Amino acid sequence: MDGCLFCKIVCGEIPSAKVFEDEVSYAFRDINPQAPVHILIVPKKHIDSCAVLDGADEALVGRIFTNIAKIAKDEGLDKGFRVISNSGDDAGQTVHHLHFHILAGKNMGEGLVP
Ligand code: AMP
Ligand code: ZN
Repeated sequence: MDGCLFCKIVCGEIPSAKVFEDEVSYAFRDINPQAPVHILIVPKKHIDSCAVLDGADEALVGRIFTNIAKIAKDEGLDKGFRVISNSGDDAGQTVHHLHFHILAGKNMGEGLVP
């Protein structure tokens, strides 16, 4: 989608620190990490957020979660990791291309919302 930051990252127009790629998804390191390990995984096709997912995207989202498991294994995240997807203003979504944050490398405790 024109003007979308993560579409530009997926096509290589904007550089990123790639972690993983397959036909449908791309993972890269967050530019402003909020944990010692902070990776983003995005679908290669533009989807605004979780809020607009429908049945046609079920296989894609399933694949992304399988890829998250692979990335966690490759990164050695055996002590655990957290997956977050912000959708909409109240959640603090700043980039309107569906993405999943993979956070790890410190004990994040039990609370989900600061
Ligand atoms: P969200 O606030 O959930 O929409 O997350 C967007 C994330 O994208 C933030 O954690 C940003 O630090 C990250 N981000 C923004 N620009 C870039 C970039 N050029 N490369 C990597 N991560 C980025
Ligand atoms: Zn996009």
